[in-house]
Amino acid sequence: MSSCNPQVLVQRSQEARKLAYCPYSRFRVGAAVLTSDGTVFTGCNVENACYTAGLCAERTAISKAVSEGHTTFKAIAIASDLEDRFISPCGACRQFMREFGSQWDVYLSKTDGSFKQMTVEELLPCSFGPDDLRARENP
Ligand SMILES: [Zn+2]
Repeated sequence: MSSCNPQVLVQRSQEARKLAYCPYSRFRVGAAVLTSDGTVFTGCNVENACYTAGLCAERTAISKAVSEGHTTFKAIAIASDLEDRFISPCGACRQFMREFGSQWDVYLSKTDGSFKQMTVEELLPCSFGPDDLRARENP
């Protein structure tokens, strides 16, 4: 999968969307994250009767990757059932992505597979990240 192009990654996120567990919002979301070595991890939103315990697709996919030893990412694609607009990650997911760098790509897609390419930096400018904590250690 090292030659995974954006269209393929979007397709993988659309497939992951089909597994969304969203009995409350009925808003299906899928995500597919591409690691630096070309591995793809997918995720869907996983809701909960205790609403705040639910998890977004992006964080599901990234957590799956991290728990398998991957912490450097090239891109993440996000898919929903929105036909007329590009699905955009929530604030918590933007911060979650930022933990692993700000210069990697995010593909915000529509149901027809078209997508808008942005970077984590563009989605979360002036962000707080790991380097800020390190600066505190060595004032
Ligand atoms: Zn989110």
